[in-house]
Amino acid sequence: MGKATGFLEYTRETPERRPVLERVNDWFEVYQDFPHTKANQQAARCMDCGVPFCHTACPVNNYIPDWNDLVYRNRWREAIRTLHATNNFPEFTGRICPAPCEAACVLGINEPSVTIKVIEQKIIDHAFAEGWVHPEPPLRRTGKRVAIIGSGPAGLAAAQQLNRLGHSVTVLERHDRIGGLLRYGIPDFKMEKHIIDRRLEQMSAEGVAFQTNVHVGWDITAQDLQRDYHAVLLAMGAEQPRDVQIPGRDLKGIHFAMDYLVQQNKRGAGDHFTGKEEIVAAGKRVIIIGGGDTGADCLGTAHRQKAASVHQLQIHPMPPETRHGSTPWPLWPLQLRMEAAHEEGGVREWSVLTTHFSGDEQGNVKKLHCVRVGPKPKLERVPDSEFYLDVDLVLIAIGFAGPVRNGLLEQLPLELDSRGNIKTDGTYTTSIPGIFSAGDARRGQSLVVWAIAEGRKAAEAIDKYLNQ
Ligand SMILES: Cc1cc2nc3c(=O)[nH]c(=O)nc-3n(C[C@H](O)[C@H](O)[C@H](O)COP(=O)(O)OP(=O)(O)OC[C@H]3O[C@@H](n4cnc5c(N)ncnc54)[C@H](O)[C@@H]3O)c2cc1C
Ligand code: SF4
Repeated sequence: MGKATGFLEYTRETPERRPVLERVNDWFEVYQDFPHTKANQQAARCMDCGVPFCHTACPVNNYIPDWNDLVYRNRWREAIRTLHATNNFPEFTGRICPAPCEAACVLGINEPSVTIKVIEQKIIDHAFAEGWVHPEPPLRRTGKRVAIIGSGPAGLAAAQQLNRLGHSVTVLERHDRIGGLLRYGIPDFKMEKHIIDRRLEQMSAEGVAFQTNVHVGWDITAQDLQRDYHAVLLAMGAEQPRDVQIPGRDLKGIHFAMDYLVQQNKRGAGDHFTGKEEIVAAGKRVIIIGGGDTGADCLGTAHRQKAASVHQLQIHPMPPETRHGSTPWPLWPLQLRMEAAHEEGGVREWSVLTTHFSGDEQGNVKKLHCVRVGPKPKLERVPDSEFYLDVDLVLIAIGFAGPVRNGLLEQLPLELDSRGNIKTDGTYTTSIPGIFSAGDARRGQSLVVWAIAEGRKAAEAIDKYLNQ
């Protein structure tokens, strides 16, 4: 423990967000740099608890008290070694993890919790700046080949682990760039894409092979993979979007959130669209159906594209501003979340059920009709509470229903679980021996940190299988 009295002397501090008026005019990350001295001081607040609940709440089980102590003592090089021992990509989680560790921090019982996530980001960004992150290729090759389908955080974590164990790993990605939702879901203002590129450079130098524009199930079959590789990992995410099945859904101007976010991320990377409908919020009245993270990403994107107005609708009631009694410490709290995007404007509406869309003579959506509803679980309609909102662009962000079923999953007679995700046993093995699954494809739409955790565990299981 760095400083026995640290938590008594210092209060919690986090990096400042850039002023709203500045950041909505660019696509750079929202948060400002956090000085070393502040990270030092914040690390001193860690009490090095006998039972560190933060460590168990973190899906990759980061050694949080250990690296807090090292940061307090300015031993940054050891701090990155300790952090990399459990997490391949702390630069991703340090930026976009919702930090279940902080919700479980013991100090959080009666004080604001330790600033864990920011310290994590600080350690890895400092390590990159100092040139301490370099390729770690294996000393020998095993001669075993592994195919990984999908280049999101689950696929990438598994690829790095397996390659370092000496197996020859090929990552196959249907998109034109590597990164999964890190690349094409999460907007630049949450994580700039050069953060992914510098890690991919390290992985390529270590010997991981990346193949883009390969849609497995179409460009090559599952059977080709079974023939050419000793093991296959399915890490293709949970991309099947949930739809709002209400009258008027086929009007023009109604899109899934991911179609919108992918386009903006591509635009940010310098791509142009030809022969494809561009989805842009500029000058439009926008409604986002869905109050979660994906909705918040659409909100921030719509403001940067200069939408005329943005409403974000949520069917559930507004959560309490502080931790609800049903989720006491150290559980993940049910409470109102204010993302940076919410600070930038827009109207959030709660307890609203959408009933139908109506449009103009050209078939463009013009109105979204709604009704207010009571609390869960019944969500009963409130009498005489019908209303409508004028709209030009609707973005549907109400979640995902597991991995896409056609193509690859049609070719493999895999067992799915009751939620439509790929079923595995405790060793991440699917119902077909030699085929494994990890990340959102296995657990449903989740978090980057869970994808990394599962990618690492699946890699361990694949290594055991290959060494049998
Ligand atoms: C808009 C949005 C914002 C989010 N924000 C956050 C956040 O702030 N923090 C957080 O922790 N989590 C966030 N998440 C969740 C997080 O991004 C996911 O849980 C995580 O990326 C899952 O990783 P994965 O590797 O399992 O799958 P993905 O990241 O989904 O990657 C799967 C990859 O597989 C590819 N693929 C699919 N099928 C095939 C095929 N047949 N052949 C070849 N390639 C294929 C896909 O193109 C994709 O690149 C967000 C999700 C969304 C949608
Ligand atoms: S990965 Fe997430 S849960 Fe784990 S220490 Fe970092 S912020 Fe906390």
